[in-house]
Amino acid sequence: MGISLRCGSKDPAKVGTLKVQRQGAAQNSPAFDFPSPRLTPSHIDAPRHSCSALLASGVVGATLLALIALGHDGRRIAQLAVLAAPPVLWLLWPLHSARLRRWRTALVWLWVMGFGLDAVVRAYLLDTYQAAPDSAMVLGAAANTNARESAEYLRMHWRSAVVWSAALVAAGGVAGLFARHGAVAPRARRPFWVRSLLLILLAACVAYVSKPWRRLHPVVFWTQWSQSLHDQRTAWAGQEKTRDAQRAQARQVAPVFSREGPSTVVLVITDSINRDNMGLYGYGRPTTPRLQAHKAQEGDRMAVLHNAWSVDASTLPALRNMFHFGQPENERPPHLLALARAAGYKVWWISNHDDLAIEQQHARHADVVDMVNRTPGRASASLDGEILDCVQEAFADTSTDRKLIVVHLMGAHPHYSLRFPENANPFDDSVDAVENGLVKDGRSAWVRHFRQEYDAALLYHDFVVSELLQQTRSTGKPDDYRAWMYLSDHGQEVGHGSDRAGHSPATASGYRIPAVVWRNREPLPTGAATQQPFRADWAGWSLMDLLGIRWSGQKAERNVLDDRYEWRAPEIPVAVESFSR
Ligand SMILES: [Zn+2]
Repeated sequence: MGISLRCGSKDPAKVGTLKVQRQGAAQNSPAFDFPSPRLTPSHIDAPRHSCSALLASGVVGATLLALIALGHDGRRIAQLAVLAAPPVLWLLWPLHSARLRRWRTALVWLWVMGFGLDAVVRAYLLDTYQAAPDSAMVLGAAANTNARESAEYLRMHWRSAVVWSAALVAAGGVAGLFARHGAVAPRARRPFWVRSLLLILLAACVAYVSKPWRRLHPVVFWTQWSQSLHDQRTAWAGQEKTRDAQRAQARQVAPVFSREGPSTVVLVITDSINRDNMGLYGYGRPTTPRLQAHKAQEGDRMAVLHNAWSVDASTLPALRNMFHFGQPENERPPHLLALARAAGYKVWWISNHDDLAIEQQHARHADVVDMVNRTPGRASASLDGEILDCVQEAFADTSTDRKLIVVHLMGAHPHYSLRFPENANPFDDSVDAVENGLVKDGRSAWVRHFRQEYDAALLYHDFVVSELLQQTRSTGKPDDYRAWMYLSDHGQEVGHGSDRAGHSPATASGYRIPAVVWRNREPLPTGAATQQPFRADWAGWSLMDLLGIRWSGQKAERNVLDDRYEWRAPEIPVAVESFSR
């Protein structure tokens, strides 16, 4: 659509000419004229003036766009621009009634202020905390804050608040100045272009029907935000009590640390890793060179459990099972982290996830909680390597000689392309056996493309996990006891058993996970013993062994590291031919 504007014609009836042309229909498209004097300040209030309406709409639109760009990025700018458009376009709509025009001015101004306030708050949070308003950190802080703390906070941060408010005031001034100059009705009959404008307005309104678009609108977003805050407080009241009860229960159980000297145990929980894609497990692409090098160096001190299974295809239930010994509902067992603390361990929770539920149900049991990733949702692109420094700090801590360091990684959680650095995909430029196999199985091009990205994510993952193992291997004195366990919360389907990619409760790929144990002292399963199936919901029993904790609830038959281990197949909602491969 081309818009040409001609101002300043001599003919008073033809002074402002705005031509709207549809491509390919230029001949038929009627030009619409409406008279206006030249665009000078003294004429701005004169009644017939399309130029000033266009200018007003342009300036208000540009102000809105600038505000939106301040608080959002990428595709969201475009989405919000569409949501913000209707009142801006309304300025072009000729109105006859002066009262109606005053209403329009007020509404447009309020509109700009609404978007402006939203943008300024977002920009401030991003600038100060690199966090979105609906991130766990901000929601948590806001939900936890009382009036006194708010006042203290403002006293500390009023300067930046003033800076951002100034931006808002400036925008308000500009919008107020220009919103008054919307189009005035030139004649009774609505010309064709007015009807076109109506169509554009309608299109913008359609955006409001789409939920993912609509919820970005400041009014909708902040209404829901305050609801989340409320829900959050209500849920927490229960969670904190639950944690207190679990701690009390753990103290009652009175677990005993049974080892001599210092003990450092690292638990690495990753996300969405399917063992079938790991070179360590025999995959055709070299996705785990570093872990394989560790294995070559460490031999029997590193046990790769070849047939590891999760019993849940998504994170929340998987973690609940892991930390509650595979029986979260039945016998109300204590929380593993509570037991570790009761046995004298100092516990770290270092996470690249931003998940309120996990934070409340598990992470908050730890003495030290480091949530490295503060942007919620699947679009968050914090690479797992970000956590390595935090883990190093935990190793360096000298306040205790009993450490349990839990590391929660994003692994290869979709979108896969966000899980490895840019230009770090070596699997997308040549046709190999894996690619040929996928073609033979009839997998579509996009699934094969996802497989390449997934494997690139695994290669980067191999780097992070190996670093964590390396740190564990080299921390402390050589004789100090150290152990390391690595497993995924669940698997992932990337064209393995069906032509799709993602979490997969309905195929075995959703449950096929890696599980690897390393320790510098005391034997681990070797040879045939590493072929025994292992289930992630029983990981707690093995962890208690790694921690060297004796307690009344011990069950050797569920501890894969024990000679008395007895496999029992879990009930999962897919048919598995054999758990032993
Ligand atoms: Zn997950």
